[in-house]
Amino acid sequence: MPSLYVVATPLGNLQDISLRAQALLAAVDAIAAEDTRHSQRLLDAVGIKAKLLALHEHNEQVAVGQVIRMLEAGQHVALISDAGTPAISDPGARAVARVREAGFPVVPIPGACAAIAALSASGFVENGFHFVGFLATRQTARRAEIEALRALAVPLVFYESPHRIAECVADLAAVLEPARDIVIARELTKLYEQIVRMPLGEAVAWLAEDPNRSRGEFVVIVSGAPATEGLGVEAERVLALLLADLP
Ligand code: SAM
Repeated sequence: MPSLYVVATPLGNLQDISLRAQALLAAVDAIAAEDTRHSQRLLDAVGIKAKLLALHEHNEQVAVGQVIRMLEAGQHVALISDAGTPAISDPGARAVARVREAGFPVVPIPGACAAIAALSASGFVENGFHFVGFLATRQTARRAEIEALRALAVPLVFYESPHRIAECVADLAAVLEPARDIVIARELTKLYEQIVRMPLGEAVAWLAEDPNRSRGEFVVIVSGAPATEGLGVEAERVLALLLADLP
């Protein structure tokens, strides 16, 4: 049956592309990519010739129509983003929903995901986490979002760009308890990979000490609400479940 394959690609280190991903990308009739020029470099590096079509946040609705027509014509299509797993803080989620609605199988080809890579090396031992992704770009909205996460008892996982890492960490430190731990995971799998853990109250000064520490791409993880505060463990667990279902 013609299918859409959601294929994870490396975060930086090309060796992180799986054998299955390579075989699949070489076999499909077309690859829908967030940035075709960026993805062409990856495909060239692993020696794959493929037909690329653009599917990004600005054309997703139109491009998915093209993907569905290809599936209806019996073709297999892969979906990739610039780095990591498509549809996770990346284009693709709406395309996946539409393809499923159209009745075609959607098959994940798992691999790199920045949040999971950072969590795996974070040392947080709680059973579970809350994935936030990108916070709002405006400070008032950003602080309100952080405030709404304050009672959650599990680690909070954020994505951040170099442009806003200092503001993001400053707002986390302003709204949440300074004794919580923060993990800053920078440039994962790349040459200047850095993963540090410290009390949240020290993180603003740590970043300011060296401009290199604000360069690159970031996953930020902050430990959950301290056990002594809030609603109690069971109430927090229920609240976390309810909050996770909110849009
Ligand atoms: N879909 C991707 C995934 O599976 O992780 C995430 C895409 S999102 C548009 C890009 C964000 O992911 C970056 O701003 C950063 O927060 C995070 N990210 C991507 N690559 C990273 C890396 N090598 N090191 C740290 N964070 C990274």
